[in-house]
Amino acid sequence: NPPQIDLKKYIRSIPDYPKKGILFYDISTLLRNADAWQIAAARMANGVAKWNPDLVAGIESRGFVSASPLASALGCGMIMIRKPGKLPGKTISLNYDLEYGQNCLHIQEDAVKPGQRVVVVDDLLATGGTLQASIELLRKVGAEVVGAAALIELKGLKGREKIDVPLHSVIIYE
Ligand code: IMP
Repeated sequence: NPPQIDLKKYIRSIPDYPKKGILFYDISTLLRNADAWQIAAARMANGVAKWNPDLVAGIESRGFVSASPLASALGCGMIMIRKPGKLPGKTISLNYDLEYGQNCLHIQEDAVKPGQRVVVVDDLLATGGTLQASIELLRKVGAEVVGAAALIELKGLKGREKIDVPLHSVIIYE
């Protein structure tokens, strides 16, 4: 089991970023600490392993960073869910509302084989819009979405209630 350390010590919160009134949780300070990052990644892998995924899907771009060590730890392949104009070949897209604004995500239409078990990963769960949009995109291309994972969950925003698969989060803020 990974050692008992308080990972919150490695998360920096920055007021008024990217807009006034938003408190931004910055994982850069976690990533740049070798021990803390290894432990965070191991805790994510421990929480997700029971879902037995074939593939891990990362959401651009901090979701890629969060998903990659998970795919390695579990021996899974990786899928990229990306912003417009980044993926070659035929893609499927979805527009959705963010806490502050709108966003659009794409996936390659041949990203998964029918019925493959996929865990979708982002750095942070806020309102849940981003993860739920990604879950819907994955289903459109034939995935069985078996779970979601986030390094950070902002519990007060109730994103967990918005997504319709089980969620494993590593660090929780009330
Ligand atoms: P949601 O769609 O409201 O759950 O917002 C989550 C998305 O916004 C994720 O892709 C996050 O990367 C990003 N996000 C929202 N708030 C923060 C934050 O405080 N720190 C880092 N990313 C954030």
